[in-house]
Amino acid sequence: MRSIPLILFLCAISSAWAQKIKTNPNKDLVIASVDKHQKELTAISDKIWAYAETALKEFKSSKELADYAEAQGFRVKRGVSGMPTAFTAEYGSGKPVIGIMGEYDALPGISQKASPVREALVEGAAGQGCGHNLFGAGSLGAAIAIKELMQQGKLKGTLRFYGTPAEEAVGGKIYMARDGLFNDVDICLDWHPDTKNAANTQSSQAMVDFLVEFKGKAAHAAADPWNGRSAVDGLEAFTDGVNMLREHVRPSVRMHYVIVSGGDVPNVVPEYAKIWMWVRDSKRSGVEEVFARVKEIARGAGMVAGVETKVTVQTGDYELLVNRTGASALQKNLEILGPIIYTPEEIAFAKKIQEVQGGAQTGLDGGIYPLRETLEHPVGGSTDVGDISWIVPEITLQATTAPANTAWHGWSVVACGGMSIGHKGLILASKSLAMTMVDLFENEQLRKDIRTEFEQRRAGHVYKSYIPDGPPPIPAQN
Ligand SMILES: [Zn+2]
Repeated sequence: MRSIPLILFLCAISSAWAQKIKTNPNKDLVIASVDKHQKELTAISDKIWAYAETALKEFKSSKELADYAEAQGFRVKRGVSGMPTAFTAEYGSGKPVIGIMGEYDALPGISQKASPVREALVEGAAGQGCGHNLFGAGSLGAAIAIKELMQQGKLKGTLRFYGTPAEEAVGGKIYMARDGLFNDVDICLDWHPDTKNAANTQSSQAMVDFLVEFKGKAAHAAADPWNGRSAVDGLEAFTDGVNMLREHVRPSVRMHYVIVSGGDVPNVVPEYAKIWMWVRDSKRSGVEEVFARVKEIARGAGMVAGVETKVTVQTGDYELLVNRTGASALQKNLEILGPIIYTPEEIAFAKKIQEVQGGAQTGLDGGIYPLRETLEHPVGGSTDVGDISWIVPEITLQATTAPANTAWHGWSVVACGGMSIGHKGLILASKSLAMTMVDLFENEQLRKDIRTEFEQRRAGHVYKSYIPDGPPPIPAQN
């Protein structure tokens, strides 16, 4: 007797679930579009994975994405903002203008096969250790799905895909922002490969990237050292000072450096030394405070060693301005799509990596995380998406493309990004971002609410990037 009402109850739930999925025909269409293009999108991602081109050298990678967008009918502008590997691809006209960003740069030295043990694809070469091959192709997949709806007259407005190079180095987006390429955008979206699926509600660290150079006087280190002034002495006094400063900064501050140039031979008093350093904190204001002290230390170190000192800012990132209203819209779409289901082979692949790297063998996390409270201090890491989020409201997705308990910016991320684990994250990203863009194009009130939260959080702050005047630092091509 009790079984009949239970069955009716379950039927009622499942039909509500089915209805929920079917409530928006445009969302069904974008899901179908991503499914239709799935093979092409993952093939593009795999090519960019194999190219593994580093910052501002992503010629083949950006061409792959730009050519595909052009073939799909987008108006493509290549080489924007002085960067040969940056591009925009636009479709439609008028308001609203919705943007979506894609990255594609790799990291040096972590070339890896799609294998769960350490095996370089090309010894010493770069690898997609942050999964940006998936990022670019996944965002473009979402853009194509929306374009198809526009083509059929089902959505109105402008859609713009941003091909943004050099996230891992100078921050290509910051140069594009400086040129005003985001000024007319109502709302922008992006995603990032991760170890979980979540509508992002966390900020990222603000950061400044700078060089400190010391210039002294060369002399014979034994015959006439009194005639010399050591640039390396200046550098050492500087790092001593920085490491003393560590005790007196807030726990949220991070300072890290590498010595780029520290003399050539011991028997010549070094004339020149160079250190490359980053200062990070949860907010830009905290970075400014510490950076002011670091500049004083550099000046003092120069005086100690009797050498000249020069500090040059190369770039910097703002912290990400969270938009919970936008994240909530994305969250609903993630919940409609539901978790990523993995095959036993994929789970075994992930567990093998975890075993090799000595992490807990938890396999893969394909679930959809609930929307989390926004923490006061983000976990470590900075992104040039942060800068964009101060110009236009930003909605960011995290999608599972690798297992937890392994090193990010490491070979395991490269391995998973070149096979089906990464592809599944890419497809979830394409679908959920496209569905959220359907909401944004259709729902004017949602756009207004997102904008209101953005203005409240921005609180009148006028965006000013860290990048110096002049063109982007395009590396010499070899
Ligand atoms: Zn990244």
